[in-house]
Amino acid sequence: MGELLSPFSMRPIACPICKSEHAHRMFRVRLFVPKDIESDQHVLTYRWQAENTEVIHPPYFALFYCPKCYFTDLADDYRDPSRCKNNYFIAKIFGSYNPETDRLVDFMGRYVHYATIDYNVALTLHYLAFFIQISIPADVQDLFKLSRLALRIAWLYREEKSGIQIPNGPRTCKGKPYFDFPLYDGFREELKKYWPAMPVSEEEATRLSCTYMERAVASDSRFDQPAKYYQGVKLLLCLLDRCGDLEGAYNTVRGIYAQGAQSRSEFQKTLAKPETSEHVRQQIAADMRVVNAYMADAGALRDDLLDRMVERDLPTVHSLVRANATLPPKEIEKLVLKAGVMPDVFRRIQSKATFNK
Ligand SMILES: [Zn+2]
Repeated sequence: MGELLSPFSMRPIACPICKSEHAHRMFRVRLFVPKDIESDQHVLTYRWQAENTEVIHPPYFALFYCPKCYFTDLADDYRDPSRCKNNYFIAKIFGSYNPETDRLVDFMGRYVHYATIDYNVALTLHYLAFFIQISIPADVQDLFKLSRLALRIAWLYREEKSGIQIPNGPRTCKGKPYFDFPLYDGFREELKKYWPAMPVSEEEATRLSCTYMERAVASDSRFDQPAKYYQGVKLLLCLLDRCGDLEGAYNTVRGIYAQGAQSRSEFQKTLAKPETSEHVRQQIAADMRVVNAYMADAGALRDDLLDRMVERDLPTVHSLVRANATLPPKEIEKLVLKAGVMPDVFRRIQSKATFNK
């Protein structure tokens, strides 16, 4: 068997901040395709198209890092910063945030071995990219990017827990020293001292991703088109579900209805104007199909969420009803809602009349 080919070609790319050129890994085209994908887009397995290629774990190479100034970003945005919403602010502020923030970027940046990216280095790069993005003022943050980076961190943590065998993965790195730290945990503990809010578990990272995604879907113009909006909301629903936040997911589904109704009314207004061009009318017809489809989907999702909350809350409702059987129904309802049961869930339980038989 011949020598394995590298999955990358190395290309010099200028850092978008300090402009110094360094070699970065570009994936050779049509090398692999995702095979098994989880509900939150995490790829479990890849199908490698080319034979005799060294198998690596693609997510470890999602970020580019500048060895000179330590700027780190998603590879596509690093190569072409004009794609980023906030590249102007990042370029202006990076390296002069405040002494504490700069020190932390410097600390993480020094602990990156860019020539060999294994699980631990990949984690550090992700922390670094996320930290750089949250360190700029809140009004210019790219919420969608923050959500994506936090989700990628959540995936890395999941891979650590799952014990799946990945080249240079968590199993290989376990127990290995990290630079001058006897273990990676030591490095992370040191980091956490200066960055107390850093996500250190899959749950925390997923929760962060959720928070940013919620805000991105509501405010980022990249979600203005109905199809994009729905893609974003679907991912958000999945993240809320993974966090066990059924109420949040339910409210999001209600938001889909509100958004859908608003879109429909805007479409009608535009269609009613005689000056609306044929091209715009066709676009609206296409958008309307998307909106109708996602509103239909939302109906099914709402029912599913309600059923699951009913199942979860039924014992609480039953015991409250039994313990207060002598109280008028209005008083019982107050107690049930006070116990944290959503009004819609309580109504569903009442309509099924499961407790007063
Ligand atoms: Zn640089």
